[in-house]
Amino acid sequence: MREAFRNYINGRWTEPKSGNWLDRENPADYADAVCSFPDSSRQDVANAVGAAAEAFESWCFVPAPRRAEVLFRAAEIMAGRKEELARDVTIEMGKVLKEARGDVQEGIDMTYYVAGEGRCMWGQTTPSELPDKFNMSVRQPHGVVAAITPWNFPIAVPCWKLMPALVTGNTVVFKPSPFSPISAYSLVRILEEAGLPPGVMNLAFGGDKAGAALVEDPRVGMVSFTGSLEVGREIGAYCGRNNKRVHLEMGGKNAILVLDDADLDLAVEGAVWSAFGTSGQRCTAASRIIVQSGIAPGFTDQLLSRAQALRLGDGLAATTDVGPVVNMPALEKIGRYMEIGRDEGAAIACGGARALGDGLDKGYFFQPTVFTDVRPAMRIAQEEIFGPVTDIIRCSDLEQAVAINNGVQFGLSSAIYTRDISKAFKAMERMTTGIVYINAGTIGAEVHLPFGGTRGTGNGHREAGQAALDSYSEWKTVYIDYSGRLQKAQMDRPEGDQG
Ligand code: NAD
Repeated sequence: MREAFRNYINGRWTEPKSGNWLDRENPADYADAVCSFPDSSRQDVANAVGAAAEAFESWCFVPAPRRAEVLFRAAEIMAGRKEELARDVTIEMGKVLKEARGDVQEGIDMTYYVAGEGRCMWGQTTPSELPDKFNMSVRQPHGVVAAITPWNFPIAVPCWKLMPALVTGNTVVFKPSPFSPISAYSLVRILEEAGLPPGVMNLAFGGDKAGAALVEDPRVGMVSFTGSLEVGREIGAYCGRNNKRVHLEMGGKNAILVLDDADLDLAVEGAVWSAFGTSGQRCTAASRIIVQSGIAPGFTDQLLSRAQALRLGDGLAATTDVGPVVNMPALEKIGRYMEIGRDEGAAIACGGARALGDGLDKGYFFQPTVFTDVRPAMRIAQEEIFGPVTDIIRCSDLEQAVAINNGVQFGLSSAIYTRDISKAFKAMERMTTGIVYINAGTIGAEVHLPFGGTRGTGNGHREAGQAALDSYSEWKTVYIDYSGRLQKAQMDRPEGDQG
């Protein structure tokens, strides 16, 4: 039977005051309605923010190691429920079960990692320029954090946000994507079971209107958003005008560079995984493959035969390589890019259409697609398509490959395959993305390192690693003068010492 989830406000599972509900269907079979959940109104969101603002007054004074203990317990519960959580990920957004397990594992890893930070959160202590004086810097929370998330990593991305926000002493209102409500519900339920006090974590379901209401609530001190460039820009502009802290993680147009001296089989393996894993719906998906001319024919042949052999289907089936895309608008958008690519003069070497037949008719399936004859300035080589589609772009040398790699509005992830250590290091220095892989594809982040992108992918913040703490806290500098007299920085120097 279809489950109806409710909002979680001030420790209570609450029906929406709006009385409005949304449904989510299984993208592998859209006749299968998997759950319904509130379409929160401005009032529902305001209630969640109010609860978070009140809870902040006490949560921020709970010692960080105690806050972290709650997260540690949450990680333990998640680990115990990994399989159940993973199946729900597949059912609600379509990625194959193996990848869904990876999504959940990333959430577990992040939660354990951040729990450890509860006993660290290093600041600085420094000598003072004056006698009998002590200086240090400590972190302080922002207050209420709004966490607005996409559907493509429905456990991992929320964990990247919620856990560091909580350990640094913020309270949270979580507005998940309307395309991944089950994972959001399960995660909040787990935090409740782990012992978070009422009001510290609040969940307001809904779509863009609920998200906008949350961003605009003056009691929200910081917005952490992951999603599309268009929405991120809007949120960034609003927060800029209102002097609100904001962390944005947006799209990608990631590339793999394959040089003539590369291990061809390894490069093809990495390209298949990076381009078609999660049906190309990863922010780090390789949607461009920049191949040096000497190796291009062999690489293209191998990639095409591998792409054509991928088996589409329900992500729960063990035989499936590539699941559906998330919804009908996504399917239509990918279809439009087929036309755009053709009109620009690119060739569709394989795929190029919605996949039908063989039990796929009731799902949002798109054939794994490879464009050839692609020039770097084409829209298909510049814009995020977010589907199982990749471009092959030829290049003459490393210098040109790097220029093509860097010549897009996004800057998330890039990769190079080469056996030449000098070229690998040159590429590492010159590729201007936030993440660089050498002899590996563009995907596969680890939680203890910073994650994020340059240019249009972000606004300079990073998820994960210690860098995440910088997003969810501000520095407070503390000077302690125990001299018992007025000392003036920069002015009190020994007589006659002009420096
Ligand atoms: P989206 O921008 O449509 O939605 C993201 C979230 O914002 C959802 O919760 C949505 O309801 C909410 N939202 C929509 N309009 C809003 C508004 N006006 N105000 C406030 N909130 C609003 O993105 P999506 O389709 O859910 O996710 C796919 C995108 O996310 C892709 O572009 C992908 O590259 C990006 N992504 C980036 C990263 C990263 O770390 N850089 C990670 C995962 C996904």
